[in-house]
Parts: sequence; structure tokens; C-alpha cells
Amino acid sequence: MSDSIVVVGGGHAGVQLCAALAEAGLGRRVQLVCAEPELPYQRPPLSKAYLKSADEGLQLHRAESWFADAGITLHRAVAASAVDRGARTLTLASGALLPYGWLVLATGARARRLTTLPPSPSNVHTLRSAADAARLRAQLAAASRVAVLGGGFIGLEIAATARAQGKAVTVLEAMPRLLSRSLSAEVAEHVLASHRAAGTDVRLGAKVEGFDVEGERVVACRVNGERLALDLLVLGIGAEPEDTLARACGLACDNGIVVDACLRTSDPAILAIGDCTNFPEAGSGRPLRLESVQNANDQARTAAATLQGREQPYAALPWFWSDQGPLRLQMAGLVPAEGERHRRPGAKPESFSVLHYAGGRLRCVESVNAPLDHMAARKLLEAGRSPPPEAACDPAQPLKSFV
Ligand code: FAD
Repeated sequence: MSDSIVVVGGGHAGVQLCAALAEAGLGRRVQLVCAEPELPYQRPPLSKAYLKSADEGLQLHRAESWFADAGITLHRAVAASAVDRGARTLTLASGALLPYGWLVLATGARARRLTTLPPSPSNVHTLRSAADAARLRAQLAAASRVAVLGGGFIGLEIAATARAQGKAVTVLEAMPRLLSRSLSAEVAEHVLASHRAAGTDVRLGAKVEGFDVEGERVVACRVNGERLALDLLVLGIGAEPEDTLARACGLACDNGIVVDACLRTSDPAILAIGDCTNFPEAGSGRPLRLESVQNANDQARTAAATLQGREQPYAALPWFWSDQGPLRLQMAGLVPAEGERHRRPGAKPESFSVLHYAGGRLRCVESVNAPLDHMAARKLLEAGRSPPPEAACDPAQPLKSFV
């Protein structure tokens, strides 16, 4: 039987796994299959620094020589197309067949699209890949009126950049508030006020009734009975787990590839990591799917342990960040459905943190322009410490003093 570890997907999770395996001296057994032609690159800057300046290049995870030095075989610009679980082989779109001892699916997520739009209009964008970002950046430069459908992190980051470039920007959010899946109402309200103060027209409860299309272009969007003319439309309506390969070979999938705490799928010879997984939350065991660099990197480390025969159930603290114009948002932990909130002022008037307690324990901290408090909050949460709210919200007391 082959002793190869074949990794599908050269995103954050796939590359971190390569790094962990190389560190363990297993690089020569690893083959990394990447559908994209670029060397593996960081995705977060695509909606941040990369979009802002035509001079900005991709931020690569590793140089090509690093993979070669580690003994890792890199397959670029070729998608994996099928898994034969009985024979333990992976077929690539080129027709090549890779035998595996272990297969790791790190296939990420794909941007959600709208079925009500005609296929491939030339001025409609999603943002997931370097190719998407290059196309968006080029068209953004020429556009005057930008509509962003969806008030989630990526849509709002793009909106902030477009607004800073002087575009007339409208954000259309169907829900009564922004970022309803990931931020508390209090912080979401602050984000809304910041975008509006910058001159972005943010419409909540926006019901999109249709689009006006001329030739290959969407020229307007009809929303709440109004016609909104546009030059460029960005769809920021979330992402779906990329589980096509997993489904086709019969692995259990349910809002992502279902894995256990050691990241094994329903086939013990196949692991899955990163955005594509649905994993049991540490403690509660409830199924969870996260889209974050932290989750991708930490799951890769857990998978590396599993591949080396060590059981280290995944229990990392979730954390995330987003940059939107003057706002740096940082979250540690997940906002609990119920509990108490306490506001901790930051060092500057426009910075603060919201501390969430549930069952008498600190569960989550959201920070706005307060990076030191975010770092301290991560340490507190990782250590399971819960300072009394009054003390933790005393600005005279550094949060890190409770760590
Ligand atoms: P990905 O990075 O998506 O990598 C998956 C890779 O698998 C892709 O390269 C894909 O082409 C490849 N692939 C899929 N199917 C196949 C196949 N059949 N064969 C071969 N290859 C395949 N997270 C944060 O924490 N903070 C942020 O500020 C932030 N900003 C973001 C901004 C943008 C624009 C985007 C798109 C994401 C952002 N994220 C952010 C999310 C973060 O980038 C993802 O959570 C992270 O990339 C997940 O890593 P991954 O390896 O699971 O998936």
C-alpha cells in the first residue's frame, strides 16, 4: 500500500498541513494538489490590501523552493476530479492517478451565487480566488456606482475600499442588521454607523426583486420597489463548503464534510480540514463549520497529529479579524446565544471591546480598534479565565493583567 499523504487544496489549511508534516520530517511523502495556477497564497488580503492598490501582489504562503526543499510534490493548475476509496487512488483532471495511504481534503469553500442572475454577467463579481480579485480590482478602478449585495465581512470590506476610492457605494442587506451570523448587535450597530459616516448607503431589510440586464451587463437592481442603477455588482452573500469530491465518493456531508474531533471523515483513511469541514465543537459537540484562517491552520495541526498516530482532539479557540476602512474588528470565541454583555472602553474614543459572559464564564470578546485587548482576551479564553466583569471593564486595569 502507498504511504503517500495526498492533500487536495493549496489554501491555508493544505499549506499549514504541509508545513507541519515537513517539520515532522514527512515532506517526501506529501503531494499537494492545487486547482489554482498560482503558488498557494493568503486569501484575506484579497479583500484588503490587494484590492486597494494595483501595485499590490499576492502574498504567498511559501516560496516554490520551500516545497522542493521539503520534498513536497506540488501539482499546480490541476483539480482533483475523483476519489476511488476502494483502490485508494485520487484521479486528477489531467488523467494522472495518485495512489494514497492517507488522503486529506482541504478544499475550502466556494462563493455563493445567485440563481436569479443570468450566467456570467461581465460586471458581477464574487471574491474567493486570486483570479476573482484581479478581475474585481481592474473593474473597480473604472466603476462609479458599486452595489454590494450582502452585509457580511467580505462585502463590507469591499464596500469600505470602494468608498475610500470615491465610488458611490450601496450595501444591500436582507436582514434587519449587518453581520447577524457573527457579531453581536452592539458591535454590528457600530459597524453600520461607521460605514454610513463614510458615506456608504447601507440599506437593511433590503429585498432584491430583480435585475435589469443589458447585453452582458447588469445595469440596475430593483430593491424594495426602487431601481438602483449600478456599474458593478458584488455578491457578498456567503460561501458554501466545497464538498463536491467528498460527496461524489460517498463521504458523509452535511453543511460540509462531516469529521470527528481528530478530523477523520466517515472513511478513516480520509481526513478533511478547514472551511470545508463540519466538525464537533469542543465541549458541546454541536456541529460547527467555520470560515477562518485560525480554524484552517489549527485544524491542519490537529490533522498532522492524527496522521502521525496521535489523537489530539480539535479544541482550538476560534478567532477572526476584519478590516473595514477605519475599523479593525477582532473576535475571540463565539458570541453566545444568551448571556450578559459588558462594554470595556479602549485606549482611544473610537476603540472598545464587548465582553460576553454566559453561565458566569467569559465566552467571547469582540474588539473594535483594540488589538491589545484582543490579544489579552485570546489568552484569557484559552486559559479558561473569567475575571469579574466590573474589573475586566475597568479601563484603568489592562485586560492582560488578568491573564
Ligand atoms: P481555501 O483557502 O479556500 O483553500 C482551498 C483550496 O482548495 C483552494 O485553493 C481551491 O482552489 C482548492 N480546491 C478546491 N477543490 C479542489 C480540487 N478538487 N482539486 C484541487 N484543489 C481544489 N479569514 C480570516 O480569518 N480573516 C479574514 O480577514 C479573512 N478574510 C477573507 C477575505 C476573503 C476575500 C476570503 C475569500 C476569505 C477570507 N477569510 C478570512 C477566510 C479565510 O481565507 C478562509 O477561512 C481560509 O482561506 C480557509 O482555508 P482553507 O484552506 O480551508 O480553504
